[in-house]
Amino acid sequence: MDVLYSSTRGAEGKFKASEAILRGLAPDGGLFVPDHIPHLDKTLSEIAKMNYQDTAYEVMKLLLTDYTEEELKYCINNAYDSKFDTQEIAPMTQADGAYYLELYHGATIAFKDMALSILPYLMTTAARKNNVKNDIVILTATSGDTGKAALAGFADVPGTKIIVFYPKHGVSPIQEKQMVTQKGDNTCVIGIEGNFDDAQTGVKKLFTDAALAQEMDKAGFQFSSANSINIGRLVPQIVYYVYSYTRLLGEGRIADGDAINAVVPTGNFGNILAAYYAKQMGVPISKLICASNSNKVLFDFFQSGTYDRNREFVLTSSPSMDILISSNLERLIYHIAGDNAQADAAYMKDLSQNGKYDITAEMKSKLSDFYGNFASEEETAKAIKELYDKTGYVIDTHTAVASSVYAKYVKDTEDKTVTVIASTASPYKFTRSVMKAIGQNDDSLDDFQLADKLSEISKTAIPEAVSSIRNAEIRHKTVVDKTEMESAVKSFLKM
Ligand SMILES: *Cc1c(COP(=O)(O)O)cnc(C)c1O
Repeated sequence: MDVLYSSTRGAEGKFKASEAILRGLAPDGGLFVPDHIPHLDKTLSEIAKMNYQDTAYEVMKLLLTDYTEEELKYCINNAYDSKFDTQEIAPMTQADGAYYLELYHGATIAFKDMALSILPYLMTTAARKNNVKNDIVILTATSGDTGKAALAGFADVPGTKIIVFYPKHGVSPIQEKQMVTQKGDNTCVIGIEGNFDDAQTGVKKLFTDAALAQEMDKAGFQFSSANSINIGRLVPQIVYYVYSYTRLLGEGRIADGDAINAVVPTGNFGNILAAYYAKQMGVPISKLICASNSNKVLFDFFQSGTYDRNREFVLTSSPSMDILISSNLERLIYHIAGDNAQADAAYMKDLSQNGKYDITAEMKSKLSDFYGNFASEEETAKAIKELYDKTGYVIDTHTAVASSVYAKYVKDTEDKTVTVIASTASPYKFTRSVMKAIGQNDDSLDDFQLADKLSEISKTAIPEAVSSIRNAEIRHKTVVDKTEMESAVKSFLKM
């Protein structure tokens, strides 16, 4: 049976997967949700014999039902290739009683690569299927990680262009260097004099400008979005939860049917929602452990049933989780309300008008799969140091939030279930914070020299993503005021 997608907020219309991927967001601002979640049609033991690519096919064929086998395999094989520095794509490392699922072996050494290396292929295939003649122009505002992962994914993909706006004074030195050295004639990176919110607001304005859309169409272009609410980003993330289970099974670390727990360092709620969908598809996941940093709006939500963004925004050492509106939570709200779009729309209206909403007791009772907790800055640093001292294994700050929360969970519950921790970034991406935590920071060293030192103490090689930008040519030098974003776009597109 085909899976069709409709809005969490009830807009008319059911869309095929390829249409939902092209649109990104539903017409009423809601998120696309599948009308049902199919069960895996092969047994976990059968899948345990497959590599990552074949596992990806088994999952994606069930949710992206209007793609042909040939199309999906083309997308998968072009995405999960030698861009990853290991054939396993998502290897696992056992350390101190948990399995770290390393999702950072792709081009930009963060887990966003898992979805953004396939999204360009899903999107250009969708354009072909839907007779879109225009070139797709991906517009992205980034606070650091998403921009680079999207650039790497879309660079030199025929039929696409990508424009990334970042706050000129708001990203880390390595993050900036990663972006401004990006190769590919179809890529454009622009610093703006303003903060991330300015970049985000500017991008949204360009997206909804009808006159601009017409002008673009005449010139043979149309905008699309690579941000994390696109189902083309969500579906590829389900794969690695299936894969981690079947790897454990294949290696005899669990028996068929045994449950596992998954711990996910969470910001926008995309990654953990993928784990939730994996469970619906038949992966025996017991607890979904949602780990937050000091921006603990999700922890409070799981405790109280109230989502309340009215609070101070805290800058932490895990910046990719510094978020007060977890966009993808909307999909979970829709599901626990009984796939009820009317209820969801009302909650989202409350959120935009009052910054908060309360779910019902019945909805809260459907959250028993989840356990939420958070880690302070001190606890995050301590998790990095303790794991390193005990095992020599070095994790990044985001993963450390998850590790710390997992320790709290075990203390609270004494649950001994085999547990997978999503390791979402390489420690080399947040070198300074990681080295500080271990007590090895040296302010006289720049970030690259510090990476050399990290390589020595962790006995791991510096990833290509870092070594290759060390002396790379700066290709993108444009900086514009936040009011000049539209003219910057037109100038790049030669309109
Ligand atoms: C984006 C990101 C997260 C948060 O993932 P969500 O899907 O937004 O919850 C966690 N860690 C890292 C390193 C990230 O880049």
